[in-house]
Amino acid sequence: MKLFEHEAKDIFRVSGLPTPPGGLARTPEEAATRAREIGKPVVVKAQVLTGKRGKAGGVKFADTPSDAETAAREILGMRINDMPVDAVIVEEKLDIAQEIYVGITIDRNERKYVLIGSAAGGMSIEELAVEHPEKIIKHHVDPGLGLSGYEARNMAIDMGFRGKQIGPLADFFMKLWSIVQVHDVELTEINPLILTKDGRFLAADARLNIDDNALYRHKKLLEGIKREPVEQNAREREAEQHGMAYVELEGNIACICNGAGLTMATLDVVSLYGGKASTFLDLGGGSDAERVKMGIEIALMYPQVKAVLVNIMGGITRCDEVAKGIVAARKERGIDVPMVIRMVGTNEEEGQRILTEAGISFVRTMEEAASKIVELVKEVA
Ligand code: GDP
Ligand code: MN
Repeated sequence: MKLFEHEAKDIFRVSGLPTPPGGLARTPEEAATRAREIGKPVVVKAQVLTGKRGKAGGVKFADTPSDAETAAREILGMRINDMPVDAVIVEEKLDIAQEIYVGITIDRNERKYVLIGSAAGGMSIEELAVEHPEKIIKHHVDPGLGLSGYEARNMAIDMGFRGKQIGPLADFFMKLWSIVQVHDVELTEINPLILTKDGRFLAADARLNIDDNALYRHKKLLEGIKREPVEQNAREREAEQHGMAYVELEGNIACICNGAGLTMATLDVVSLYGGKASTFLDLGGGSDAERVKMGIEIALMYPQVKAVLVNIMGGITRCDEVAKGIVAARKERGIDVPMVIRMVGTNEEEGQRILTEAGISFVRTMEEAASKIVELVKEVA
């Protein structure tokens, strides 16, 4: 989950990571109030879940509260990357000596975290990464050992900092690292981290993405955070309520399988045989007849589905239950779209017997299943 800049900065403040004084405003008047509280020139920034706000005009400077109000009025009316701006932050405008880039993310190939830093941060970091990759410094951090003080100092030195700048920058990394650990952050970026003319390092921007699979550990943090619910259609809602992973695609063949890996592989094989999948539907492990029937029904709610491919690897899931579910769907619900069944594993023979008795044919391999469903769909499409 992506956090807004102001949400990330709230976490930074609590964790002692230096950020400029300021706060959130939802109206131009509130922005003026914030600017008055700060009592210095300010920066007014759009709060949207996308980067490059600066280039889009979503970051403006204001010397007085009334300028801040005007700036906020302009920004609050904008759409950035097609996202409406509902709020701005108003913060003290820092006196920049240098804009620095720092980030921490996960390097899955190395199975480690990676600190990323550059003394040449700011809005052109992407170009820098392409034209001068040597100016971007990376240090891997072993998740088991954590980040040591000396590694943080080495990072600062490799980025080109010397003397009394090393300590504060290393300290910044240590604090950022601890935020990453405590909040299960999979990506954080501070661009720019501003070195002020009076020698302080402050996070002027903040990007923080929390690992979705760890959100259940952060109920307290999430209490104050509201997100517009993702729009779902009836089929997606239904599938989610029953704990099935369901994704709609462009084609006309619904693939109903158990396990995300097998479902992905099935989509691939269908595509290899020249078919186009309409549906990724992972029933999950241990599905019984009722669930299989429901999966087929949900898949068929999608109007463009012309055929159904059921591909099951029986483990905890029993093929006899799968067969019963298919029979129920066809007999009780009168579902008569072309269907190809392939199932192997636990209670395979019993499952095949049930299908045969009901006059439903099945195939033995995934390749056969894919080529047959592609043939069948040609006839009806
Ligand atoms: P982004 O474009 O969405 O990444 O938005 P940023 O928050 O990074 O702001 C863009 C640019 O505005 C930064 O690179 C800075 O040059 C400038 N900026 C942001 N905050 C401040 C500030 O407090 N003081 C000054 N002088 N410039 C700032
Ligand atoms: Mn930025």
